[in-house]
Amino acid sequence: MTQYAIVTDLNRCVGCLACAVACKAVNDVPIGSFWNKVLRIGPNASIQGAQDADSYLYFLPVQCQHCADPECVKVCPTGASHKLEDGTVQVDKSKCIGCQFCAMACPYNVRYLNEQERVVEKCTLCEQKIAQGELPQCVSQCGGMARFFGDLDKSIESFEGAENGTERIVLGEFCKPFTDEDVHVLPNVGNNPSVRYILRDHEWQGGGE
Ligand code: SF4
Ligand code: SF4
Repeated sequence: MTQYAIVTDLNRCVGCLACAVACKAVNDVPIGSFWNKVLRIGPNASIQGAQDADSYLYFLPVQCQHCADPECVKVCPTGASHKLEDGTVQVDKSKCIGCQFCAMACPYNVRYLNEQERVVEKCTLCEQKIAQGELPQCVSQCGGMARFFGDLDKSIESFEGAENGTERIVLGEFCKPFTDEDVHVLPNVGNNPSVRYILRDHEWQGGGE
């Protein structure tokens, strides 16, 4: 079954915020609200009793995880929040009554109330773009060429990133090798988040697996 998702290679992410800015611009996200935020994790000591030189940090872009079993859909009283056949979770604004049950149920705090329209919004995975075969804007504009888009039904090595010249980069060819232990998700409370994060050589601090 198709499950579109994003994979970010955190060892490549430089925390430039290009993804956050590109997302706001293409989706007209209101001032003060975000569909995609880049968190700074750390600094952490790499060894016990470490000096400054032994510390590290990494950046963690967080958006709607387009969960396989989304809590937001389960609690929505009108059916406005729903899951499509491509696996993305969307909000039908014509059905949304602004009750914000979904925002309270989401484990990752990625939904907000658009005060002007009185409807809840969040990342759509750029549904208007992926329907045309294009990449989500945060992927095509990623300054570190760290973000990749694809279908979790296939291997994440096949996920595609920004164009390098005329062709899209492919995760399995472009990124450094990684193991299954290097692939992480945010804490799973039964919602089964779809977004994946690759982190090598550092301890995963994002909770979850
Ligand atoms: Fe719903 Fe939150 Fe999962 Fe997105 S991350 S699908 S808003 S529960
Ligand atoms: Fe990281 Fe890419 Fe976002 Fe820059 S655009 S913060 S490199 S994910």
